[in-house]
Amino acid sequence: MLRFTSLASGSNGNATLIEGRREPGERPTRVLVDCGLGPRRLAAALASRDVAVAELDAVFVTHEHSDHVGGVLALQRRWGIAVWASEGTWAGATAGRGETAAAHVARDGHAFTIGAITLHPFAVPHDAAEPLQLVCDDGTRRLGIVTDLGEPTSAAVLALQGCDALLLECNHDREMLAEGPYPAWLKRRIGGMRGHLANDQAAMLLDACRHGGLRHVVAAHLSRQNNRPDLALSALRRASADGNRAGSTKLHVADGDHGCEWIELD
Ligand SMILES: [Zn+2]
Ligand SMILES: [Zn+2]
Repeated sequence: MLRFTSLASGSNGNATLIEGRREPGERPTRVLVDCGLGPRRLAAALASRDVAVAELDAVFVTHEHSDHVGGVLALQRRWGIAVWASEGTWAGATAGRGETAAAHVARDGHAFTIGAITLHPFAVPHDAAEPLQLVCDDGTRRLGIVTDLGEPTSAAVLALQGCDALLLECNHDREMLAEGPYPAWLKRRIGGMRGHLANDQAAMLLDACRHGGLRHVVAAHLSRQNNRPDLALSALRRASADGNRAGSTKLHVADGDHGCEWIELD
């Protein structure tokens, strides 16, 4: 049994909780993917989903940008939660932060298992030291998490094949970004090949990964300034409409502050 919930998604902080168990009744394994939330906000978000911080088994950090890593050191220091990150990510996350415990090293293409959940990290193009995104499974169900990438690469398409659910970056609408208030350099960075996925790029990625068993897609990491939920959803809706099984994939949007409800994949 695998289920997940976004706790928050976007530039004010990202965190996704994944829960897996191989046998009914056994204690679930809980892995947090990213923690851009401070301790109080994280504890409240977890409590609203009936989970205590101390019940987390590990946190996987995708990259060192503060919206993903801001709360990770507190998790490690205060609660002793095990951290998994690439060497580049951990070096970036801990630079200038004083004495820091080591993280378990995660590498592109090297799967590892925490309790009932196996994680399969893969590299993505993003303006960070060594960014990884991931697919996780419980031996039966597969969840793909992919945010903070500048373009839909063939490696990402390959990694995300056969997923039952995807949490997929829909960062911006190209027109809103172009006409919005950001300075030119920032627009170039966001829209660049190591920036963030536009709605139409997310739709391309979804189109390349969709299959009859894809049950849920969560639009994630939406920019408040440069996107709207309805624009992200309509881009994904076009890409997920399957000729034979139209409507079989349920679309969701992760709210910036509150994420989304539990999504069950059992
Ligand atoms: Zn981010
Ligand atoms: Zn980032």
